[in-house]
Amino acid sequence: MKSFNFKSATNSKDAAKLATGRATYLAGGMTLLPAMKLRLAAYSDLINIKKIKGLSGIKVSSKSIRIGSTTTHAEVAASKEVGKSIPSLSMLAEGIGDPQVRNRGTIGGSIANNDPAADYPSACLALNATIHTNKRKILSDKFFTGMFETELKKGELIETIEFEVPEKSAYAKFPNPASRYALVGVYVAKLKKEVRVAVTGAGSSVFRSKELESVLSKNFSASAIENVNITSKGLNSDIHASPEYRAHIIKVMARKAVSSC
Ligand SMILES: Cc1cc2nc3c(=O)[nH]c(=O)nc-3n(C[C@H](O)[C@H](O)[C@H](O)COP(=O)(O)OP(=O)(O)OC[C@H]3O[C@@H](n4cnc5c(N)ncnc54)[C@H](O)[C@@H]3O)c2cc1C
Repeated sequence: MKSFNFKSATNSKDAAKLATGRATYLAGGMTLLPAMKLRLAAYSDLINIKKIKGLSGIKVSSKSIRIGSTTTHAEVAASKEVGKSIPSLSMLAEGIGDPQVRNRGTIGGSIANNDPAADYPSACLALNATIHTNKRKILSDKFFTGMFETELKKGELIETIEFEVPEKSAYAKFPNPASRYALVGVYVAKLKKEVRVAVTGAGSSVFRSKELESVLSKNFSASAIENVNITSKGLNSDIHASPEYRAHIIKVMARKAVSSC
């Protein structure tokens, strides 16, 4: 690992002031530090945002849940409020990595990183989330722009993520047995105005399945998925699975998710 300066910010304004040049934010460090150790990334300054009090915590209202960006996966999994309003979100958090990763890793770090196999981006898309940064609000449909890419500008800090409370929702993941990252994960949500289905792990970035949304909008049942044709075109191919296998698993996970709603 190359040497770097370590700085701590106590509020969002200070954090943004420090995040210039080749500096970057450090939350749980679960992704950033391995990348630096492997020399895949190098920064002059790491700005610790875990000491910013307002960035952590969960606020629930009847229509939405707002989760602070430095809230850990373990905190989301253990939250009674989240479990009551959006149980699928608690289950998603509970299924991330292992206890060490869940106790350090944060929701903000996960979506800022936008790993193609990460779980939270699918929850954001399916639950029509709004990402509140220190500069603006970004709809999740606009936030995830490509593999490890987001709409965030240099130095922009995610403060909270606001999820719409759905009528019904579920997340089904086919995990990589070693890392627990999604080989394919499907998040299904029946919202007040629409049905949304988000797929992670299968493509270069999380995406919404228009085919599944279309049939589930008419008939929200597992049997409605039987005749849907999921194309393998553009899906990931690696040592774990072919595009055709991933396309098949998308359908299997979608049926599983709808059945458990
Ligand atoms: C062994 C292992 C298994 C894992 N398994 C899974 C899994 O099953 N599912 C899954 O989804 N993930 C998994 N992860 C990833 C894990 O969820 C990480 O916690 C997450 O990707 C990054 O969160 P972090 O808080 O550690 O972020 P960091 O590593 O600190 O930061 C990651 C990136 O986000 C930026 N960032 C962090 N916070 C903010 C913010 N508030 N605003 C703007 N930018 C910010 C940082 O600058 C950096 O670029 C796994 C990781 C490991 C090491």
